[in-house]
Amino acid sequence: MADSTRVRFAPSPTGLLHIGGLRTALYNYLFTKHHGGAFIVRIEDTDQSRYVEEAEQDILDSLKWAGLNWDEGPGTESQYGPYRQSERSELYQKYADQLIADGYAYYAFDTSEEIEEMRERLKKSGNPSPKYDSITRQSMKNSLTLPQDEVKRRLDAGEEYIVRLKVPRKETVRFTDIIRGVVSFDTQGLDDQVLIKSDGLPTYHMANVVDDHEMGITHVIRGEEWLSSAPKHMLLYKYLGWDAPAMAHLPLIMSPSGGKLSKRKAEQEGIPINVRDYVQQDYEPEAVINFLTYLGWGPGDDREVMSLEEMIKEFSLERVSKAGAVFNFKKLTWYNEHYMREKSDEELLPRIKKVAEREGYTASDDYLKTILSLMRDRVSRVPEVIELGRYFFEAPAEYDEKSKKKAWKEQTPALVQKYLDEIQSLSRDEFKAAPLKEKLSAVIEAEGVGFGKLMLPVRVAVTGMGFGPDLFETMELIGKQETEQRIADAISKLS
Ligand code: GLU
Repeated sequence: MADSTRVRFAPSPTGLLHIGGLRTALYNYLFTKHHGGAFIVRIEDTDQSRYVEEAEQDILDSLKWAGLNWDEGPGTESQYGPYRQSERSELYQKYADQLIADGYAYYAFDTSEEIEEMRERLKKSGNPSPKYDSITRQSMKNSLTLPQDEVKRRLDAGEEYIVRLKVPRKETVRFTDIIRGVVSFDTQGLDDQVLIKSDGLPTYHMANVVDDHEMGITHVIRGEEWLSSAPKHMLLYKYLGWDAPAMAHLPLIMSPSGGKLSKRKAEQEGIPINVRDYVQQDYEPEAVINFLTYLGWGPGDDREVMSLEEMIKEFSLERVSKAGAVFNFKKLTWYNEHYMREKSDEELLPRIKKVAEREGYTASDDYLKTILSLMRDRVSRVPEVIELGRYFFEAPAEYDEKSKKKAWKEQTPALVQKYLDEIQSLSRDEFKAAPLKEKLSAVIEAEGVGFGKLMLPVRVAVTGMGFGPDLFETMELIGKQETEQRIADAISKLS
């Protein structure tokens, strides 16, 4: 495929971009970049009732955060723009007129009460899911049943109308989906899809097809939930006399406990659902991207970590799985740890600093850098360097219950006191990890007890917890006065 590949990510601005939406954007991006093509962002904002003011900005910000820069979209100018459907209304009207003139669509004047009546009537006569279709349209008020002069009179008088697609009674719509193979639908199950609403704006189906054609889209890559819309789109392409783009419907994203990963499910399972959550929790964008790439795709070998360039090189729709892809949060955490560890101190320091400030802690860059070096391999996300290391900034307000029980026995206060006496003899300059460790070894040898018998209580005293980075380096960093104070406090509080 030459330079001509054109794909689009076409979100509706009805809410914050969720993680599944980002995967759709990513697969579009990887596919088109693999073929040297263009990545287009189109905002599908024709449903005014579901419009959310901040959504568009959030979607664009999220794509930028993830590094998915678009070649065309809101804010760029080209022969294909504008890229917001609300700015393209005339186009949809023009093609709706063409469909009506060619006998593939019609005006419908029915009020919502009349449609409701029709439904009730059919339900009573045993039709469980009545539709406005090839049968019922014949008894409704539309340009197929009303005399032509009456239709003209109503239109001239400015009466409200909608435009509906004239879906054929019995036809099989067949197309080949790159991921799913041959897909076929029977038109009998379809209703006469509304194309233009009474507010004059197009529905998703109409605008989507017109824009994919007008923008020269070669491949439609979107979530499986749109598969059932595809036959309507195929009819529209046919009736408008256009070739349909190639289609690829991506597998659903499943929750670890089964079923589609809905907002509610995600919440229950502690999985952040909006891209904004990942930004706020300071995830590494490379980790999220690497994780999402593997959510429904794989290179076919045992590589797990790949740069964006590598993923572009390897990506193909043929390798996307049909089956739902389970969102494994542990895996995402693993990726995040990986990418975080790859970054230099210089890169991470400003971010650590921001978290520290947010938490109300002030410390020098050197102090923060030492914390980072102690904590780096023990945390999953950048903010945890601070959140799990509060004892670097303040004395523990309380002691972890389990560790306390495990560490603090009858003979412990006397033992810890001996250690405290020992380290008090060290000068401020001597208060370093190595001598602090030697002193501890000396005490346990003299007392004939195991290392842990003293090490654990001291750790609990200094940090409030039973685990953490190297204790002696931690003590060195916290400093002589503060460390000794904490140990003395623990002896009196815990005895
Ligand atoms: N506007 C639709 C959405 O919100 C686009 C579906 C499609 O890609 O055709 O996902």
